[in-house]
Amino acid sequence: MNTAQTLLIPFEEYETNVLSQINLKFNALKSKVKNTSIWNILPDSNTTQWIEQNTMLKLQSNIGFNEECCTLIENSKRTYRIGLIDADLLDNGTRHPNLALLKMSAYCKGFNHDVRLLCSYDEIEIKGNGYTNYDLIVLSRVFKFTKIHPIVQKLIEKGKIVYGGTGFFEIDGPNLPHIVEHHMPDYHLYDEYIEIQTNGDEKLKKRKWGDYLSYSIGFTTRGCIRQCGFCVNRLLKKVVPCSPVSEFLDKSRSKIYLWDDNIMAAPYQVFHSVIEQLQATGKAFQFRQGMDIRLMTEEKAQILMNSKYCGDYIFAFDHYKLDDPEEKKQVEQTVKGLDVWRKYCNKSTKLYVLVAYDSQDERDIEGTFYRIKILMEYGCLPYIMRYESYKDSKYKTLYTQLARWCNQPGFFKKMSFRQYCVRNEEYHQGFNKETAGQNNAILRTDLYGLRKKKYCACYQAMLDFEREHPEIAAKYFDLRFEDLKNKN
Ligand code: SF4
Repeated sequence: MNTAQTLLIPFEEYETNVLSQINLKFNALKSKVKNTSIWNILPDSNTTQWIEQNTMLKLQSNIGFNEECCTLIENSKRTYRIGLIDADLLDNGTRHPNLALLKMSAYCKGFNHDVRLLCSYDEIEIKGNGYTNYDLIVLSRVFKFTKIHPIVQKLIEKGKIVYGGTGFFEIDGPNLPHIVEHHMPDYHLYDEYIEIQTNGDEKLKKRKWGDYLSYSIGFTTRGCIRQCGFCVNRLLKKVVPCSPVSEFLDKSRSKIYLWDDNIMAAPYQVFHSVIEQLQATGKAFQFRQGMDIRLMTEEKAQILMNSKYCGDYIFAFDHYKLDDPEEKKQVEQTVKGLDVWRKYCNKSTKLYVLVAYDSQDERDIEGTFYRIKILMEYGCLPYIMRYESYKDSKYKTLYTQLARWCNQPGFFKKMSFRQYCVRNEEYHQGFNKETAGQNNAILRTDLYGLRKKKYCACYQAMLDFEREHPEIAAKYFDLRFEDLKNKN
């Protein structure tokens, strides 16, 4: 029997042809997913047994994994089949595992339920009335722009799938119940997905999936004093302790990363206690949110510098408008923080540079270069974070190229922005590596000295901007990290 066909009874409002268009490749996936307990316990779909068992949990509310879910999970008399969906992973992929899902998984497994992370939307089989082959499906989305399978979206609207995350509720989403929030994460939730993606290649796992496999992950504090308009951490206006490190520490994992919103704004004792706990583990750690360099002090710089820190130190540099007194103050505090930092630390330091949030015009582009120049002078690396409105800008391509140049230190450290764009066009025109960087003068003409009609997107974006705003280009396009890095 073809399982996929028999189980794909169309969901209420979906025509059969819509379903077939969506091309659920169930069998292909099933053959890839090995040792999956779910497949072993699925009853024959032709029997009444299947129909009787096919009752998803009925919930009053499907917003967030809530207390009601906990009550059902804890009081169940049978083993539930629970499917967890990391929507960001299934859309574009993500660099980090979804911590909320890791905690839900561990919590549910603690009551002996059969939990799996869906490796594809194709794993959901839809029966009549919108029932699926799971007793409970929970979908989490971190980013608003992440796309969700249209049928799954429909199931959410029909209350059949529990959903949550900042990708749905920017600042006012429900919190996880206390018992789930403070549960040790299930660090093996993604194992099967990673196994499929890497085909078991250990080197590839280490290279591409290290953030999933080598780290304990948690929040030692929550909250932030700032309430920036673009940020999801706006509810709690102060920094409070959240989890002791022991709550999420997996001793078998070599490193730790933290998602604290603003550890630098934590009260003195809290900051010290967190660092002491981290140091006591003997493991290298890293704060992944851009830390607030405006709150850098000599003492904090020394503590961070002398810690067992892994990877780049990451801070944020979000402001640039010198004609706005409040913004100007933020810029000055950032520069002061960099001064203090560089007094104690010469290690690799990166700052997130938010772009296209305040505006998406030449002013914002100039503000971006302004911050890049300051960072070059402090020997720091910018990491361009594009606010999603960059897509509406006439400089959309330029924003993209700025991100490509800055976010790849191999390019950023060696080339000015102009050199980077020229190199792209050289590659586009087939110049070899040996003459890289020497062809700028002839790039714009063909063999007969005539003006070329079409350039690569990168070079064209640079030319267009330079034509419109030659003064900004003259000021910034030729700056090189190498030349400026020891200026401060
Ligand atoms: S300082 Fe950082 S964490 Fe705090 S509100 Fe601003 S962006 Fe969010």
